[in-house]
Amino acid sequence: MSLIDLMTMAKPNKELQMKILSLLWNVDPADCFQCMRCTSGCTSLKLLELKPHEVNLLVNAGFVEELVSSDIIWACASCLKCRERCPQKASPYNIIIALRNLAVERDAKIPEVYMKAVAQILEIGFTQKPQTVTSREMQPFNREKLGLPQIRYPDDKFRAIFMKILGG
Ligand code: SF4
Ligand code: SF4
Repeated sequence: MSLIDLMTMAKPNKELQMKILSLLWNVDPADCFQCMRCTSGCTSLKLLELKPHEVNLLVNAGFVEELVSSDIIWACASCLKCRERCPQKASPYNIIIALRNLAVERDAKIPEVYMKAVAQILEIGFTQKPQTVTSREMQPFNREKLGLPQIRYPDDKFRAIFMKILGG
């Protein structure tokens, strides 16, 4: 079922629409003229059926509540292609991020993978641990071998600031 199908029983919410607009800077979904250049290049379209032009359409129509509680806003891979391709100042990426922020503010269900990423940042300062990678010649490389400095793991001060930013 597409996002548009999901909205058939929904009602527009002007207040939430205004809230989303207040979270955006220099981006206005009302500038979107539905050319679909964003969707034609969207990294998440094929696997996750994310259609960024539909997100803009629904925000313009006031269906923000439904978007905020939908899994679809978490499907965005943050590749920024839609922002680059948009001929207007209507970047779906920025609108999706605003929707996610609103979802967090409203205690909506956040995918497990994001919660794991937050836990990793608290523990090691990154979303994943440094890895050993293999070259085409099958040589293993890690930070030390590449002459990169040791990772400085977060201290209590970092954790306290991070939690404050998260509102915890
Ligand atoms: S957001 Fe931009 S690229 Fe996407 S449909 Fe609207 S105007 Fe076109
Ligand atoms: S930033 Fe998100 S919505 Fe935009 S093209 Fe990339 S995956 Fe699609």
